Amino acid sequence: MANPADGDRFDLVVVGSGPAGEKAAAQAAYFGRRVAVVDRLPDPGGTMVAGAVSTKTMREAALYLTGFTRHQIYGVSMDLRPDVLIGRLRAREADVTAMMTEAVRENLRRHDIAFVHGTARLAGDGAVDVDTPAGMRTLSADALLLATGSRPFHPPGVPFDEMDVLDSDTARALDRPLHSLVVVGGGAVACEYASIFLALGAEVTLVDRGSRLLPFLDAELSGLLRDTFRSFGMRVLPETSVTGVQRTPAGVGVETSSGEAITVEKVIFAAGRTGNTEELGLKEAGVATDERGRILVDERFETSVPGIFAAGDVIGPPALASVSMEQGRVAACYAMSIPFKQTVDPLTPFGVYSIPECAMVGLTEEQAQERDIDYAVGVARFKDNSRAAIAGATDGALKIVVGREDRRLLGVHMIGEGATELIHQGQAVIHFGGTLDYFIHSTFDVPTVSDSYKYAAYDCLQRMAAG
Ligand SMILES: Cc1cc2nc3c(=O)[nH]c(=O)nc-3n(C[C@H](O)[C@H](O)[C@H](O)COP(=O)(O)OP(=O)(O)OC[C@H]3O[C@@H](n4cnc5c(N)ncnc54)[C@H](O)[C@@H]3O)c2cc1C
Repeated sequence: MANPADGDRFDLVVVGSGPAGEKAAAQAAYFGRRVAVVDRLPDPGGTMVAGAVSTKTMREAALYLTGFTRHQIYGVSMDLRPDVLIGRLRAREADVTAMMTEAVRENLRRHDIAFVHGTARLAGDGAVDVDTPAGMRTLSADALLLATGSRPFHPPGVPFDEMDVLDSDTARALDRPLHSLVVVGGGAVACEYASIFLALGAEVTLVDRGSRLLPFLDAELSGLLRDTFRSFGMRVLPETSVTGVQRTPAGVGVETSSGEAITVEKVIFAAGRTGNTEELGLKEAGVATDERGRILVDERFETSVPGIFAAGDVIGPPALASVSMEQGRVAACYAMSIPFKQTVDPLTPFGVYSIPECAMVGLTEEQAQERDIDYAVGVARFKDNSRAAIAGATDGALKIVVGREDRRLLGVHMIGEGATELIHQGQAVIHFGGTLDYFIHSTFDVPTVSDSYKYAAYDCLQRMAAG
């Protein structure tokens, strides 16, 4: 190991500039620490910018440019030529991605954080060797934070070297208009891609080996999502596995466990991710991992080696940008002994940007049952909501789970446009220990979709009264 030059000595060195790394670095720098962030890519931002922001932009652009879900209401649509549509969508995605990359870069600059482009490897004694385009550099620090994220899991036997066999990272590099597509998986990323491509006019088959989409979602709403997808024309095949994929003269042949052979233009595998740990030299450094290669950490996000911390996708689920950011901030506080943020809030809201959106926070009905909680539910359907009707976004519902005895709000589950924003009202009420009565007594602006909370609460009261 080379001796680090003076300029390469820091309080904290963060490996990875995704949401965990960026926010950890900013947290430490905000409290006056000298911080460096290393990334093997020339642009900072990680999968947050390249994955989350980019797919959400594709979704927004697809909805706007095709008028999907709205054009029946007004009887008009833009009817762009498919190649023009794809060109506009890609241009918009490039603009927003560039804007968000610059926002991360500016955040690092504002906090006086050194950004080092290169691949990092642990070098012992609080140092990392960085293979930069200009040669090797050694950075050392009082503490290191590993935030190297994840990449798509590639099931064995699938020919990912074929240009039309894609994963959750390559799927967004849409090179031409698509007529037909298989999406493999039933999680958030699979549902998002399936919806986006459906909106863009492709025939989409969603093949999911699970029995229901988004297994973490309330079962009733998961069923509603499947029905909504089907009403939009998507084929949803639950409890079905892909048994073979090969190039055929007509396209890509996908064989399923039910014996069906589906020929499509492209197939996207969006089923699982795996941690980016191989290049870090974890074994040599003594950093323990689990059987899936995820870095093991304690409640302070410290690894088995004192002074080396880890956060984000590289430590495993839930693998969300939102949670990764919080983990990074808490890890930085422990690493730098900053008494500011000691825990990650366990009340995580989950948002899925399918069409329509889904969101949840707190307990599902099944979890309430499993925990032997005496509970009641209330449901408000968006078809009865004036704002949803005005917007032509009546697909969806809001469901609340409430404790019968103390009327406390335990969970909120939602499908429909704006769900990923609206969920935070429920989150706040649960967080502060609020009850059903908050929704009954509050005046909600109308017309808003938010006032569905009130009608879900009334529905819940009625069900409780009925016994
Ligand atoms: C298509 C898609 C859509 C998504 N949508 C959402 C969403 O809507 N909401 C949400 O909350 N989450 C979403 N996610 C998940 C979210 O993007 C990740 O959970 C999050 O980015 C993880 O953050 P991270 O900082 O742990 O890692 P990453 O964002 O993966 O960043 C890790 C960084 O480390 C760098 N790196 C790796 N190894 C090294 C090394 N040895 N040396 C130097 N640098 C290295 C990588 O280049 C990368 O920049 C989505 C993911 C995908 C794929």
